[in-house]
Amino acid sequence: MCAYAGIWLSFLPQTSANASDATVSPSEQPLALIGGTLIDGNGGPPILDSIIVVAGRRISAVGARGAVQVPDSAIRVDISGQWVMPGLVDAHVHFFESGRIFTKPGELNLTQIVTYEDEVRWMKARVPETLARYLCAGVTSAVSMGGPRFELEVRQAARTLERAPNIFVAQGPISAASIGHDNFPLVDGDESTRYAADAVGAQARVLEGIQQHVDLIKAGYLGGPFAQEERHFFELLPAIVATAHSAGLPVAMHATELVPARKAMLAGVDTLAHTVVDKRVDQAFIKAAAALHINVVSTLAYWTRDIQARSGHVTLLPIESRCGDPEVIETWSKVPTLAAVPSKERGEAAQAQKVGMDNLRRLQAAGVAIAVGSDAGNFGLLHGASVHQEMALLALAGMRPADIIVAATRNGARVAGAAGEIGTLEPGKLADLLVLERDPLISIGNVGAISQVMKGGRLFSRDALMGPAKERVVLDVGATKDDLK
Ligand SMILES: [Zn+2]
Repeated sequence: MCAYAGIWLSFLPQTSANASDATVSPSEQPLALIGGTLIDGNGGPPILDSIIVVAGRRISAVGARGAVQVPDSAIRVDISGQWVMPGLVDAHVHFFESGRIFTKPGELNLTQIVTYEDEVRWMKARVPETLARYLCAGVTSAVSMGGPRFELEVRQAARTLERAPNIFVAQGPISAASIGHDNFPLVDGDESTRYAADAVGAQARVLEGIQQHVDLIKAGYLGGPFAQEERHFFELLPAIVATAHSAGLPVAMHATELVPARKAMLAGVDTLAHTVVDKRVDQAFIKAAAALHINVVSTLAYWTRDIQARSGHVTLLPIESRCGDPEVIETWSKVPTLAAVPSKERGEAAQAQKVGMDNLRRLQAAGVAIAVGSDAGNFGLLHGASVHQEMALLALAGMRPADIIVAATRNGARVAGAAGEIGTLEPGKLADLLVLERDPLISIGNVGAISQVMKGGRLFSRDALMGPAKERVVLDVGATKDDLK
């Protein structure tokens, strides 16, 4: 541990229990992190004995000692013997799902125990706590891959909180299937998917999102039992893509099957929000994905965690136990639903995950950008820390730690349409970074060995990342302020 950081943190008030007191607020006085091994998020070799200078919320200089000038006025924080990397980007989450076993009554109806209205009330009251847990896990940005208006409310709340990630919200999913409310219930009277009957309707849905200042557009093709109802989906998709792109917004696509994923890719979407899990991707698919610079979001953990949570036995990583919400975790063991998960379904989930892992490995080897997305909010997937489980599965799939780090930082920023602001440690970008006690290039699990997290120039010690979030927020919709500008 560094002497300077200890001295600096001791300047801070010792009397209050409020965790936000233990941060270094961004100010005009620059701050320099000195001596750490730098992993900048671009995938190149690390820089030993580096210096990162932060001014206000942004990085002003970064590089090897000797190549970077530290201003005389700078606060110096010694991080020698440690590693520094960009803050993690979880490229696929849903805030309208809590991860609790009560959160998807369309899939598992436990409303006799907790009504859906009570579940929504719990999620709303829990927003500051939920967001604080992202920083605890080193996740400084998260991409909401669609849902009700609530997702925008959470983004707005995050802008008022010290301990919260940057949040990017997708409008959608824009779907050609009018899904019944039994599967996806209303949240405060608002639907969690955006139905469009034709291309004009689809364009209107995109424009609705643009008006609400969303960060990206999500299109959704469910397949399976919905295939007949949504058979006209691919007539809508060009209008979705063209309208989104004309406003400068990227398009992410839900399509977990090979055939619709290929069609979506060729129709111009920027991101596949999940890996393909029904079939092995062929060479033509891989070549097209590379040539079109498609991002593929992993979401592998969903397949094991969904079954585990519904069975009452989730195996958590240490960082998930440390940073996960105990009020979420406890619901998985309290509800004995083992009998509800037939072995056929277990086998199918395991097979989907296996195919998905193989596809990701082959796509990545061919140069396709993989992004790390946890699908947090689904059963067994904790807001914040579940991204570490996702990274562990990518390692199991055969990806090198160096490549997983790029996937969990730079490539996630691309999914968000925010590559100019976050995802790598470069001058001009937001000062979102992690200081680690162990080398993440040796084992991806070492990304969990967090000693400090910087978010927007504020430096939080590991201890300051823990504890209840006390900040109060007012949820509001229709934010016009772009916090990143
Ligand atoms: Zn999702």
